[in-house]
Amino acid sequence: MSAEPILELRNVHSGYGTIKALKGVSLKVYPGEVVAIIGANGAGKSTTLMTICGIIAAEKGEVLYDGKKINKVSPEKLPIKGLCQVPEGRRIFPRLSVEENLILGAFHRKDQEGINKDIEYMYSLFPILGERCKQHGGTLSGGEQQMLAIARALMTQPKVLLLDEPSLGLAPIIIQQIFDIIKDINEKNGTTILLVEQNANLALQAATRGYVLETGEITLEDKADALLHNPEIRKAYLGE
Ligand code: ATP
Repeated sequence: MSAEPILELRNVHSGYGTIKALKGVSLKVYPGEVVAIIGANGAGKSTTLMTICGIIAAEKGEVLYDGKKINKVSPEKLPIKGLCQVPEGRRIFPRLSVEENLILGAFHRKDQEGINKDIEYMYSLFPILGERCKQHGGTLSGGEQQMLAIARALMTQPKVLLLDEPSLGLAPIIIQQIFDIIKDINEKNGTTILLVEQNANLALQAATRGYVLETGEITLEDKADALLHNPEIRKAYLGE
């Protein structure tokens, strides 16, 4: 593990008006890791990702990316710097084709040859997207839209990919496919991944380390394997 985290939260507080959703969250993500944040409904998982991206302002504390404070960087600038989020609910462009969605993911890039190569790479990672390349994004199934959202984010060539509930609303077989690809992206491209998930079992199986978030506070941090075998975690989050 590299000595310096690529992403770090230091005592971050944020929320929605009087609702304090994050109450001093600190965490570190090192280059090459897959880190999972697990927690119940409403624990603050999505708020954590949105605060990292600046969609919600941190009221207190610091968000550091590549050693630099990014609290004041506007959200649309972050993908250009290599920090890209796949939001919950996918948010692809429904009236644009699969291919146009992918091209938009590369909005800041000028290397047309590289863009074409990456589109082909996305079709090799997600063959169904290649088959559906001319189809409107909005007509894809839920699982295909999730794949498109991940592929579009990868078109930005992220150093760090933030994934919000990649399993949400999908059939088990599709979830497994998506998690296999997440592992692949990490292993083959070296992309660092921070993912938040209600499905703790899946998330911890894919992750190297994990954090447990409870009502806006980190209550436990450990290697993913240790969390998977922790009786408290098994009882609270793994349905035992
Ligand atoms: P889930 O798994 O259900 O998506 P989560 O862990 O991602 O949950 P958040 O969505 O981050 O949780 O919500 C954290 C807290 O902030 C919750 O109490 C939630 O009700 C509140 N919250 C989230 N979004 C808003 C909003 N737009 N306005 C007001 N409160 C909000």
